[in-house]
Amino acid sequence: MRQARKLAVLTGAGVSRESGIPTFRDAQTGLWASYDPARLATPQGFLADPPLVWRWYDMRRAIVLDAQPNPGHLALSEMEEMIPSVVIITQNIDGLHARAGSRDIIELHGNIARYKCFENEHPQADVQPGLGEPPRCSCGSLLRPDVVWFGENLPPAALERAFSEIRSAQVALVVGTSGLVQPAASLPFIARHHGAYLVEVNPEETATTIIADCFLQGRSGEILPRIVEAMRDLKV
Ligand SMILES: [Zn+2]
Repeated sequence: MRQARKLAVLTGAGVSRESGIPTFRDAQTGLWASYDPARLATPQGFLADPPLVWRWYDMRRAIVLDAQPNPGHLALSEMEEMIPSVVIITQNIDGLHARAGSRDIIELHGNIARYKCFENEHPQADVQPGLGEPPRCSCGSLLRPDVVWFGENLPPAALERAFSEIRSAQVALVVGTSGLVQPAASLPFIARHHGAYLVEVNPEETATTIIADCFLQGRSGEILPRIVEAMRDLKV
């Protein structure tokens, strides 16, 4: 890693969980537990009941805004001091990598703190919280969170850049992701195919482990700071 010119990092829900952010399913507690995810996070569900979906994301956004980056997020941003190019490719929607100081972030699944209109994807700033139902864009369309819902494609520009970065990285670091959800699951394989040294950090073995050059078992909040420490100690 100290010799790499480019490090590509793929992060998933495990990294957010260590900041106390529940996964989609884990957030379905109380009244929310009774709803089929299709009603809460699909275009069809939104059109059927916009206020319901709006309130679901208000609730989840509040959790995210209360959360703090954990030592794993901070360690990844510190790697920028030692490697010329560090790009974070994340499946998380909480914006915690940016709050930890990482500067180059590809958000494959969008960001819960951003909004766009449903019909035309016009980006929206300064949306008031706590409205209870979605306001409208100047074009007349309802606003929605700028996240990728079930059945939707990943943002093409983000995906294209993720593939391009992973192909040109000397080291790829896969952290806190089960490696089961496509197309992100194919990124480690592409990295390996293009000659990157592949490091996986996860509490348990995953579909990626079999191709990893190095599997570090444990929580990212413990392992990543130790990697940074080891890098600092190493003279190159
Ligand atoms: Zn619009």
